[in-house]
Amino acid sequence: MSTDQEQGPTYGFDTLQIHAGARPDPATGARQTPIYQSTAFVFRDADHAAALFNLQEVGFIYSRLTNPTVAVLQERVATLEGGVGAVCCSSGHAAQIMALFPLMMPGNNVVVSTRLYGGTVTQFSQTIKRFGWSAKFVDFDDLDAVKAAIDDDTRAVFCESIANPGGYITDLDSIAAIADAAGLPLIVDNTTATPYLCRPIEHGATLVVHSLTKYMTGSGTVTGGVVVDSGAFDWSASDKFPSLSQPEPAYHGLKFHETFGPLAFTFHGIAIGLRDLGMTMNPQGAHYTLLGIETLSLRMQRHVENAQRVAAWLEAHDAVEAVTYAGLPSSPYYDRVEKICPRGAGALFTVALKGGYDACIKLVDSLEIFSHVANLGDTRSLIIHSASTTHRQLTAEQQVAAGAAPNVVRLSIGTEDADDIIADLAQGLAKASA
Ligand SMILES: *Cc1c(COP(=O)(O)O)cnc(C)c1O
Repeated sequence: MSTDQEQGPTYGFDTLQIHAGARPDPATGARQTPIYQSTAFVFRDADHAAALFNLQEVGFIYSRLTNPTVAVLQERVATLEGGVGAVCCSSGHAAQIMALFPLMMPGNNVVVSTRLYGGTVTQFSQTIKRFGWSAKFVDFDDLDAVKAAIDDDTRAVFCESIANPGGYITDLDSIAAIADAAGLPLIVDNTTATPYLCRPIEHGATLVVHSLTKYMTGSGTVTGGVVVDSGAFDWSASDKFPSLSQPEPAYHGLKFHETFGPLAFTFHGIAIGLRDLGMTMNPQGAHYTLLGIETLSLRMQRHVENAQRVAAWLEAHDAVEAVTYAGLPSSPYYDRVEKICPRGAGALFTVALKGGYDACIKLVDSLEIFSHVANLGDTRSLIIHSASTTHRQLTAEQQVAAGAAPNVVRLSIGTEDADDIIADLAQGLAKASA
């Protein structure tokens, strides 16, 4: 089955998650995508080599830039997200740097939501300063504040579709409209939703980033990331994006946008980003992720079904003060589910216990099926008490603001039997409140 871009939309999600980007191996007929565990690829002749190095022909040179197994994964994720191209990277955090790298120069800033994965808050508030970049953190429910934060040095707007840890849902269409009016790309981290639950490009996103480490691979085996480009942004409409619109000295003055059109961002990501930053995904990791994506829709259906049942059960429990799941009518984000992620509100939420810090610690230590880990989006149910782990160094006020108050645990609901997950929480909560 060929999965050229123009054919993609004619197939359903369940078909594309298995077939997009993949063909039987031309050399052997292998039906599953082989792991091309090779650093380099032989040139047909000197002219072929020159054409590849001049970006006049697309092909495989060296696996820091391109690799056939990774290329299949790139095409598959791009297709599932409705984008024109994608660049795989070594982790979700690498993908975030790779998304910003072509857009930002020293002195530039990115306007970002306050509701983000904890590691992203650190990357944006601390580490990117070393590049001369900065981030302005804003409450993305306050649209006027988002508008007001954008200035002449802003080069992008960044948020998560379903935000970690509380399952908060961003009104992507409204944020995209603000970015658009300012001539800026909107970057959406779609890790916790996956393209099965949410397709940010359909809501106006320019770029979609993922930690493939989570639901996309699904079994907690791989660290990986990806940047998907919608192909819809006009990089030459202003002088804000010289890396894409102006001559590139390392390629004899080639202008990426003029030369590659809608694929400008993707080509830049490979030819400059991976070449010089080297945040490359390895073929073995790409293979595991491809296997995981084959069952993405099936797993996400079960994740959502289980999360819905477990969240409702917890909300009715005597020991529980509050549950943040957007799939519950009590959530302030309940009304956004239908619009932003109509197939369900994901499987990640927080639970506040009446028994406070001590009850949380006892619960975490009493559970049998849940693993106490700093991860999410595994087939296994996972729990973490943020205040004593990932958010330990924060002040009490900062913990509360981050949705990680001392009496809060975060659950990532797996695909086990919902009855077993609930029974485990029931025995854990009994011990925690004893
Ligand atoms: C895990 C995660 C990241 C970082 O991904 P890594 O693969 O761990 O680098 C970024 N954003 C979200 C929402 C995540 O859950």
